[in-house]
Amino acid sequence: MLASGSGGNSMIVEAGATTLLVDAGVPATTLDRQLAKAQIAARPTAIVVTHAHGDHCRHAAELSERWQVPVHCSSSTRRSVRLGGRRAPTVFASRSRFTVGDVEVDAMPIPHDVPQVSLRFTHAGASAVLATDLGDLPEGFTEHLAGCDVVLLESNHDAKMLWDGPYPFHLKRRVAGDRGHLSNAQTGVALRTLDRRARDVVLMHLSETNNTPELAAAAAREALGDHPARLHVASQWGITVVETGPPVQGVLFG
Ligand SMILES: [Zn+2]
Ligand SMILES: [Zn+2]
Repeated sequence: MLASGSGGNSMIVEAGATTLLVDAGVPATTLDRQLAKAQIAARPTAIVVTHAHGDHCRHAAELSERWQVPVHCSSSTRRSVRLGGRRAPTVFASRSRFTVGDVEVDAMPIPHDVPQVSLRFTHAGASAVLATDLGDLPEGFTEHLAGCDVVLLESNHDAKMLWDGPYPFHLKRRVAGDRGHLSNAQTGVALRTLDRRARDVVLMHLSETNNTPELAAAAAREALGDHPARLHVASQWGITVVETGPPVQGVLFG
């Protein structure tokens, strides 16, 4: 995870000979700095964009040109925003399985105020699920997470901080709504259904105004109970590294 939050989102999925940049909400210079910090030398072989919000897709065209790599996005996202620079984006259905290089990707639609997907990445029997920018947990979400090694899940806000906080009322309603963002409590509901296979849980897309890493981690820990998964909390410009095969390297929180 190279960047996580409303200031810009990007992560790298490395598997086999494939390096995916997932979400492109960060400009090239910042990305270079974050890639160096994460000690990732390989340049991306493809870009995958989850949805049409600027903090996830603003720099997709520029980065696609820079690396001469395709942008993959859902057909609905393609209709709502210009991505991919001079080359047309490669389109996938919101509920589908497709491959990008050595990685198999399962997309599942999730509720947000623009069309949005959760993506499950699988390679050599290991898998990671990314689910961010969703207002509610859709039917079938538990199954989507089942058997997963790594779960990257939004834990956007503490409901009390949001409602007591400085946002204007319409924005509070949007964030808390069922097409907005997950609260720590909602993230907890998802974590309670997690099976024992999951080894790493990364909380992400935390609001810097309406949440704290401590509150998000405490809610997740309570929800996980005696589940042995390691808990990580991604920050806007921190680097979080998770590996699915031994040896395991992780940035533990707290
Ligand atoms: Zn976002
Ligand atoms: Zn969004």
